[in-house]
Amino acid sequence: MNLSLTNISPSKNRQSDFDCDVLVIGGGPAGCWAALEAVATNASVVLVEKGYCGSSGATASAGTQIWYVKPDPEEREAAMASREAMGGYLSDRNWMRPVLDKTFESVNRLADWGYPFPRDESGEQQRISVQGPEYMRLLRRKVKNAGVTILDHHPATHLLVDGDRVAGATGIVQQGGGEWQVTAGAVVLAAGGCAFMSKALGCDVLTGDGYLMGAEVGAELSGMEFSSAYAISPAFASITKTALYRFAQFYRKDESLIEGAGSARGRSIIARTLLSEPVFARLDLAETDEVRTILRQAQPNFFVPFDRRGIDPFTQMFEVKLRLEGTVRGTGGLRLTGLDCATTVPGLYAAGDNATREPICGGFTGGGSHNAAWAIASGSFAGVAAAGFAKANAKPHSISDPQAENLARNPSHYADPTAILAAVQNEVFPLDINYFRTHDVLSAALKRLDSLWDDIKTAVPVDENGTLRLRQAQAMTATARYMYKAAISRTETRGMHRRDDFPKQDPAQHHRLVLSGLDDILIRSEPVGSDLLPEVAE
Ligand SMILES: Cc1cc2nc3c(=O)[nH]c(=O)nc-3n(C[C@H](O)[C@H](O)[C@H](O)COP(=O)(O)OP(=O)(O)OC[C@H]3O[C@@H](n4cnc5c(N)ncnc54)[C@H](O)[C@@H]3O)c2cc1C
Repeated sequence: MNLSLTNISPSKNRQSDFDCDVLVIGGGPAGCWAALEAVATNASVVLVEKGYCGSSGATASAGTQIWYVKPDPEEREAAMASREAMGGYLSDRNWMRPVLDKTFESVNRLADWGYPFPRDESGEQQRISVQGPEYMRLLRRKVKNAGVTILDHHPATHLLVDGDRVAGATGIVQQGGGEWQVTAGAVVLAAGGCAFMSKALGCDVLTGDGYLMGAEVGAELSGMEFSSAYAISPAFASITKTALYRFAQFYRKDESLIEGAGSARGRSIIARTLLSEPVFARLDLAETDEVRTILRQAQPNFFVPFDRRGIDPFTQMFEVKLRLEGTVRGTGGLRLTGLDCATTVPGLYAAGDNATREPICGGFTGGGSHNAAWAIASGSFAGVAAAGFAKANAKPHSISDPQAENLARNPSHYADPTAILAAVQNEVFPLDINYFRTHDVLSAALKRLDSLWDDIKTAVPVDENGTLRLRQAQAMTATARYMYKAAISRTETRGMHRRDDFPKQDPAQHHRLVLSGLDDILIRSEPVGSDLLPEVAE
């Protein structure tokens, strides 16, 4: 692929500067909770968002189940035990307990703020799920009213440093053009995960920017092998809410049933079938009008694309595909050093999908409850800790921009973000590379991604409009490299990481994989320090 046209040097067109105690990057639930908790300590807080805080990101577009568990010892025990085996025993109850406590407290605050939780027959509010649009609209209002400066359509592109600590960020003013700079005593990265622009609803803004920004200043990543989350979606639509497929059966084109595809292990059966033929679904287990009405009320936007096309999913077959959600409903992200959600870089904190969720879900998906709780709790913990760091340390005074300096040192060339995106997607979308993994296939893909990275790492866009697209393409390339570096190293099947050449869990690999570096990616294992159940025999 020819990505380069000519050598050039980067230019600056600064439009706005801000100074604050805490900068939050990303305005999904994790960023909003971080901002709320930071501002509650009297810190000055700026929140920058790539899209519009309140309607951008994975939560904003759909209903979300939350890991909301009453502080009853038996219920809590069952909740903690529920995904430990599925996650390959890489989770840690020393994290689960405070996450459950904080989630319970924060969701109760939502109720106090007037979130309209539905009530059961006895009149008790059911607080185990929220509708994304209402939830995010409420959070935006609370964040704004609390005095946080929200900068919508202000994507961050890279972090600023002062010596060894993080001191703010710079980015792009999407509407109006130019760049912004925020100097901050501490930064919370809450820019979500990476779904590689697979067109999963709400996820095309989630391009791994936070992983790259963190890694550029020396932060470590963990759990990146647990990044092969694919969701069932209609072939003709982007809606990837999967709860309703519990009412589905799956068929071949000739209407013969695909046995086992609707079971707990059904995703693998569907994936295997898709390697050779199309797969169709029908929600024919929702047999009564009463059940169908309940499903429509529970997930209204699931039905929108069907209604538009005049398809009745309860009675008519429709083609499905598996859409990559990468780390959004996977697990990997920046490694945290403790419950304050600090990264290894002073002044840098991470929350939500931007951080690894291994502490509460191990190697299994955090979707369906844990991730929403994680966004709330890790956001809250990070917000408080970032504000504390900013107050405890002198204001940054000698700001530098390592990425701009790197660009100035290295000859830069124009690159076409569309071509880079296509090249990355070719490596991460195919089920026979990323879902059914083997050493040979992963190694070949990583070699191509490494070469792509070498081509594009110091590239600049053809014009200002391309700046964000190029930066996103670079972040997705980096993310894919971290994923496959870890996936090659984990020579076993654990959690969502499936190795066709190592189909069993290996007790000797009961550890986390920690990555660092940009051009040369280093990898090391880290024990799971906790009171987990002992490893089960295979
Ligand atoms: C279809 C679907 C259904 C799901 N259902 C559930 C569920 O039922 N239960 C559950 O627990 N989890 C669920 N999840 C996962 C859950 O949605 C996420 O874990 C959650 O949204 C994470 O919150 P977040 O704030 O970290 O990220 P997001 O909500 O994705 O927000 C990240 C924000 O950062 C912004 N951003 C990105 N890059 C930048 C940048 N460079 N600069 C500034 N801003 C940036 C984005 O625009 C976005 O607004 C689901 C996910 C999907 C895709």
